[in-house]
Amino acid sequence: MRLKEFESKRILQSMGVSLPKGKLVSTPAEARQAAQEIGAPVVLKVQILATGRGKAGGVKFADTPEQAEQVAGQMIGMQIKGYVVEQLLVEEKLDIAQELYLAATFEEATKGRLMMASDAGGMDINEVAEKDPTRINRVHMDSWIDMHPFQAKELAYGLGLSGKVNSAAQSLFLKLWATFVSFDAILAEINPVVVTKDGRVVAADAHIEIEGDSMFRQKDRLAALGILDRDDNAKPPTEFEVEALKIDKADYRGVAGRVVEFPGSLGLMIGAGGGSLTLFDAILRNGGKPANYCEVGGNPPVSKVYRLCKLILQKPGVKGLAVMTNVFSNSRVDTLARGMIKAMLELGIDPATYPITFRSAGAFEEDAYAILRKYGVKYLGRDVNIEDAAKAAVSMMEGL
Ligand code: GDP
Ligand code: MN
Repeated sequence: MRLKEFESKRILQSMGVSLPKGKLVSTPAEARQAAQEIGAPVVLKVQILATGRGKAGGVKFADTPEQAEQVAGQMIGMQIKGYVVEQLLVEEKLDIAQELYLAATFEEATKGRLMMASDAGGMDINEVAEKDPTRINRVHMDSWIDMHPFQAKELAYGLGLSGKVNSAAQSLFLKLWATFVSFDAILAEINPVVVTKDGRVVAADAHIEIEGDSMFRQKDRLAALGILDRDDNAKPPTEFEVEALKIDKADYRGVAGRVVEFPGSLGLMIGAGGGSLTLFDAILRNGGKPANYCEVGGNPPVSKVYRLCKLILQKPGVKGLAVMTNVFSNSRVDTLARGMIKAMLELGIDPATYPITFRSAGAFEEDAYAILRKYGVKYLGRDVNIEDAAKAAVSMMEGL
C-alpha cells in the first residue's frame, strides 16, 4: 500500500525521526491558521500518491499567513499527475544547507535489502543513478536484524558529513532502517533529507510503501496513526480487467489472474515463479508492446487457461500471442497448450497461422509439445532463455 507524504511522516515520527513542524489542511482558511501556528514562511505541498510534485507545481512557498491562504486557494482542487488535490501539508520553510537522498528498499539485482544514500538529494534518483551512479552509496543488509552502527557510520562518512550533522545522520539512518523492517515496508524513502543551516537533520519529504501481504499484521498499528487500509490502485479496473478477475475468482484452483490492461497488440499469458514480471520486463526492454500483464501458475485447470486466453485473444487490437513461462515446477505445461488451442479453435483462429510465441517448459512439456505439433504451432524449448524468448515475441510482432 502506497502512502502519502503526511502518512509516511506520521510513521517516521512514531519511530523518532525529526520532521519539520507541519500541519495537514484541506481549506485555505486552515492553511492560513497553520501558517500562523507554525510561523511563516511556510511551504505548502499537495498530498497525492505521486512523487515529483515539485516539478509539477505541487510545492509552493508563502511568506505570510495571508499568502498561505491565497496559495492554498490555488492549490486545493487543482489537478496534478491525474490526482485532484484535496489536502495540503503546510510546513515550516526550512533554511536548506544541503539536501540528501536516503532510502531503504529491495534490490532486484542482488535479491537483497539495501540502504541507499546520496548527496544528490532533492533530485530524481533514477536520473542520478543513470548519469552519476558513483554519487549513490549502497549498503547491503544481510538480514532482518537492525542496522549495525558501523553501517550507519559508513553511509554518513560516505556522504562527507562531519560533526553534529554526521551523528544526526547516523541516527536517522538507523531509524529509517528500523522503520523499513518493522513496518514491513518495500520502500522507505526520504528525499530530501534536509540539513538546515543551523545544523538540524530533518526528513523534508517521505515516501513509504507497505507490503500488501503484510497488511493483516500492520493494519492496527497503521490505524492507530490514522492510516486506513485501502485499495490504493491509482485507477479503477477496466472492463477487461474486471472480466479477467471473474475468471480467476470463478475457480479456486491455480492462478490466471493479476491481469492488467495495456494498450499494445501483443497478448500475454505469462507466469511461473516470478516469470511474469521477468518476462514482462524483458518484453518492454526489447521494445515490445504488450496488450496485457497477467500471472498464470499454481496449476490452473485447462478451463481457466482457456477462458483467460480467449479473453486476451478477443481484446480489440491484439494481433499476436506470447505464451511464456519459466520452467514450471508446480503447473503442467500441457494445460497452457490445451487452454490456448481450445480458445483459438473456438474463436475460429487457425493456430498454425496465428502469430504465437510459445516458450514454456516443465512438467508434462512433452505432452504440450505434442499438442502444439498436432496443430502446427512452432514452439521454443527450455534451451531458449527468457530474454531470447522475449526477443522472439517482439520480432514476431514486427509489421503486424
Ligand atoms: P517532491 O517534488 O514530490 O519530491 O516534493 P518535496 O517535498 O521533496 O519537495 C521538492 C523540493 O522542494 C525539495 O527537494 C526542495 O528543494 C524544495 N523544498 C521543499 N520543502 C522546502 C523547504 O522547506 N525549504 C526550501 N528551501 N525548499 C524546500
Ligand atoms: Mn521529494
